[in-house]
Amino acid sequence: MARKVIIAGNWKMNKTASEGKALVEDLKPLVADVAAAEIVVCPPFTSIAAVVEAAGGSNIKVGSQNIHWAESGAFTGEISAEMLKETGVEYAIIGHSERRQYFGETDATVNQRIKAALAAGLIPIVCIGETLEEREGGKTEKVLFSQLEGGLADITPEQMAGIVLAYEPVWAIGTGKTATPEMAEETHNYIRCQLKDMFGEAAEAVRIQYGGSMKPENSAELVAQRNIDGGLIGGASLKAGSFAELIKNAIA
Ligand code: PEP
Repeated sequence: MARKVIIAGNWKMNKTASEGKALVEDLKPLVADVAAAEIVVCPPFTSIAAVVEAAGGSNIKVGSQNIHWAESGAFTGEISAEMLKETGVEYAIIGHSERRQYFGETDATVNQRIKAALAAGLIPIVCIGETLEEREGGKTEKVLFSQLEGGLADITPEQMAGIVLAYEPVWAIGTGKTATPEMAEETHNYIRCQLKDMFGEAAEAVRIQYGGSMKPENSAELVAQRNIDGGLIGGASLKAGSFAELIKNAIA
């Protein structure tokens, strides 16, 4: 089954509204002719409105970096799916390792956030991945299995087909250390096999991004792998030139 490549930039806590707008204005002409990949940028909440406006009419889509599961209520500092939907975002990153590490995100809260995003018609980009200690201890598959089992509990095969997964080995995020294409493919293949067990044929439609120090120099060989369907990009998405080059190399 042909899966369309999806490359998403996770800006993390970078770019004010005016800086985000300027980045998208610079990016638009550089990727205007890209039809073979879905392009997404995920700014901080405060920059979303400006970025949605700047991206209007282009092939650049916008996502959030988190989402809360409740519809509304006493959740100081949180943002609901409905609030996000109204800003014009179409995607929501869920369960990024930085949220798991610093903000107490668990597989159970990931699951609640996925359900809220789906209910609002947003496409979840669900992050999973092992730490260096877990990889070195031979626990990668066990960790991924429990993240999939807990995070995707009660999700139907129809819903799963529209969810994007991002496999991000935590040891490769922001470190400059990238998994080799072979190592990444082996893990992506494991993830797809688990998805097949859980969701049957729908697993073939699920796009699985690789994330962790993906850059213009390595995006081609990573995305060329059979089960790698794009990337979730941190550092290299913060400059229009490098993000555009990474995207073009990935689909060349
Ligand atoms: C990320 O934060 O999702 C990420 C992959 O970051 P980087 O590309 O900087 O490693």
